[in-house]
Amino acid sequence: MIRSKKVIFISHCILNQNTVVCPLARAKGAYREIIKKIMECGIGIHQMPCPEFRKLGLKRIPMSKTEYDTLEYRNLCRSLAKDTANILKEYISNDYEIVGILGINGSPTCSITGIRGIFMEELFSLLEKEKIYLNKIDVPEDYMDMKDNKEFISKLEF
Ligand code: SF4
Repeated sequence: MIRSKKVIFISHCILNQNTVVCPLARAKGAYREIIKKIMECGIGIHQMPCPEFRKLGLKRIPMSKTEYDTLEYRNLCRSLAKDTANILKEYISNDYEIVGILGINGSPTCSITGIRGIFMEELFSLLEKEKIYLNKIDVPEDYMDMKDNKEFISKLEF
């Protein structure tokens, strides 16, 4: 089988809602409609780490970006972002296409297009230093698995 050489980098919880703060899960497991669309396009999926899970585990409570933004948490996000950027660069240097980075709108850690989350700030800062500019997409705050997501799903063009 010939591989597509196309990869999308996605926030961890798009594939695994079990890491999301209680009670904010929006699917039982993965966001099925989003993953289905990516699979139909023949695109490989790189699941980025969940910084909030790494720092505070499963029993954490909802917190704002300001509350998360300590030196320790920023250092953790920077370290995870560096690892992610290195993986991404390995694909690019081997002529793979990164079709985009998919984050979570409204997340203090993983939002890209709204108020940018801490992990995404660190990741895009590293990428921009290397002059790597990628398609940025966020799962909207009102996405709910198997509800009316047609508009968002139809916009996912790779
Ligand atoms: S930190 Fe990111 S990956 Fe983890 S639950 Fe929040 S939005 Fe999802």
